[in-house]
Parts: sequence; C-alpha cells; structure tokens
Amino acid sequence: MKVAVFSTKPYDREFLAAANATAGHELVFFEPRLTPQTCRLVDDFPAVCAFVNDQLDASVLLPLSRQGVKLIALRSAGFNHVDLQAAEQLGMTVTRVPAYSPHGVAEHTVALMLALNRKIPRAYNRVREGNFALDGLLGFDFCGRTVGIIGTGKIGAVVARILAGFGCRVLAYDVGANPDVEAIGGKYVSTEELFAQSDIITLHCPLVPATYHVVNEEAIARMKRGVMLINTSRGALIDTQAVVRALKSGKIGYLGLDVYEEEAGLFFEDLSTRVIQDDVFSRMLTFPNVIITGHQAFFTRNALEAIAQETLANITAHERVQRPPGLITSEVVRA
Ligand code: NAD
Repeated sequence: MKVAVFSTKPYDREFLAAANATAGHELVFFEPRLTPQTCRLVDDFPAVCAFVNDQLDASVLLPLSRQGVKLIALRSAGFNHVDLQAAEQLGMTVTRVPAYSPHGVAEHTVALMLALNRKIPRAYNRVREGNFALDGLLGFDFCGRTVGIIGTGKIGAVVARILAGFGCRVLAYDVGANPDVEAIGGKYVSTEELFAQSDIITLHCPLVPATYHVVNEEAIARMKRGVMLINTSRGALIDTQAVVRALKSGKIGYLGLDVYEEEAGLFFEDLSTRVIQDDVFSRMLTFPNVIITGHQAFFTRNALEAIAQETLANITAHERVQRPPGLITSEVVRA
C-alpha cells in the first residue's frame, strides 16, 4: 500500500525501512509535521502514517479524505491528537501502536527522578570544570519515600515495580485498579490522598477530558511542600502556568518533564540557533530544579523496532481487509 509517512526523522526512516523489507509497502517519507498546509503533499495515497505532534483534526482529516485517504496509522500509543469523531464520519480507519515498550518510558521516568534528586546534570558539569565541591548536590534516599502514580496501566505498573524495588511506598490512582500494582504492595487511594501524601508524583494516564490539567492550582495546593512532580505522559495533564508559580514559591521542589502542553513545533526540532518564543517554556528552563527532555522517553531501539513493525502490521491488515491489531475502537476510547 502507498503510505505518506509524516514527521519522519532519519531514525524513523531507518527503522521503518528495515521493517518494510518484509512488509513490502510503498513508504514515502515526508519530514514536516502534518498540518493544514502540509496535508496538500498527500496526493493519491490511501494511507497516512503520523506521529504525536501531527495535526489530525477535521481541518486536516477532511482534505485528506478528499484525496482518498482511508487509513490513519499512528506510530504512537496516545491518540489524543486525533478527532476520532471526524475520522469516523469520513469513514476513515485509525490505528495506533498500543504497547511498544512500557519499559523504555518507565525507565526514562525513573531516570528523570534520579537525575533531579542527585542533581546529575549539575554534578556532571562541575566535575568537567574541575569543581569537586558537593555544596548544592544534596539528595535524599528514595527508600522509604512515598510515590504517587496516577494511571497504572502498562507504563505506570512498570514504574510502580521499579520504585517498589527501591523500597518506596507506592500509592496509586486509576479509574480501575491493576492487580499487578496491588501485588507489589501498591495501595489505591483518592487523588486527594495521593496528592497529600506523596513525596514524588508521576503521571501515566492518557490525556482525555477527565485528565486535562489534572495537576492544576487546586491539586498543587494539596501537595507536600517540596514535592517532586514528573510527567512523561502528555503535556496537557499539567497546567504549566500553575506549575511555574509553584516552582517560584518552592511548593514544587523538583520538576521532571518529557512532554509539554505546547510542545508541537518545539520538540523533535533543532532550534539551538533560534530564539524560543514560548515564554512559559523558557521560564521553566531557568529553574535549577527542573529537567526537561524533548519527548524522548519512548526513544529506545526496542521501541523503534516495535513501533515500525506494529505500524506496518496495522497497514498490512487494513490492506487485506482484516481487523488491524491496533484498531482504535469505541471500547479503546472508553477504556
Ligand atoms: P495504558 O492505556 O496501558 O494505561 C493508562 C492507564 O490510565 C490505564 O490504567 C487507565 O485506566 C488509566 N486512566 C484512564 N483514565 C484515567 C483517569 N481519568 N484517571 C486516572 N487514570 C486513568 O497506557 P500506557 O501505555 O501505560 O501509556 C500511558 C501514557 O503514556 C499514554 O497515554 C501516553 O500519553 C504516554 N506515553 C508517553 C510516551 C513518551 O515518549 N513520553 C510514550 C508512550 C506513551
């Protein structure tokens, strides 16, 4: 099948081309993000393959549909950026890669926690400059601390397991309990209790209307002073402006982000010679107790191989008029 593949970097092309050696689709790689402007590149393609910051609202889906696109094959697990109602009305199938490597994302989450606690970026720079002083590098033991996990699906459960291994007490909030988390001693509580009791709070739920700005002014007010907040899930789970105010007051003591609510147009690009126009993002970079990575939690060899294989499996199944394994159904949306 002829597929227009958007937001492709050299690593995407490498892994997709390798997986396509057996799948045999005609992949045409486009570097730009999918937007109302770039969707004009799609001419005579029955399928479009997209990533997390591609625009897939009605303003893009409608012209794609007019060009004959029948399949949107996402290379991500999250699908909050797709207007599924518009896709359904246009008779388009939407697929995703539900689980490619929960370990990669979970391990990056814990890497942010440890780097923040032990001030690894600062320590690294100091030692390179011959400064071996320890002032300002004081950390704490994770063992015995309380970690609150919001969203205990595939990734949240792995985070729970790793942190239980460190000797942390695990509190969890989810719309449904995960027996794997309970089996390692995790206790399900209300969000209010989780916010009030946790030394470290980490977000692993999807971005849906119910979770939009789940960390807002009111939630922050309930948290312990000096709490560590980590978000490797989706940017808009956090009200960033409220978090900046809490960093300034010292209420939030550490912030680790891999996602940002306005990341489209920033992340995945080399902007090192440009002036960043987003003042909220720039302000966050000035805090000594903030570490931001640019949506790289998924970025492991294992994940890229699995994403490429499963995306192409979805496309192959659609071409053969079979049910794609990563089909987004109303049950997936409700889950
Ligand atoms: P998952 O579907 O296995 O787990 C999500 C969990 O969130 C489920 O247990 C679900 O019940 C729970 N949930 C749903 N609504 C909720 C609500 N209102 N409140 C609390 N919990 C709720 O998904 P996953 O594979 O663990 O991925 C989690 C998220 O991680 C994805 O939605 C995606 O946004 C993000 N992600 C980020 C990266 C990255 O590179 N940074 C990579 C992959 C996934």
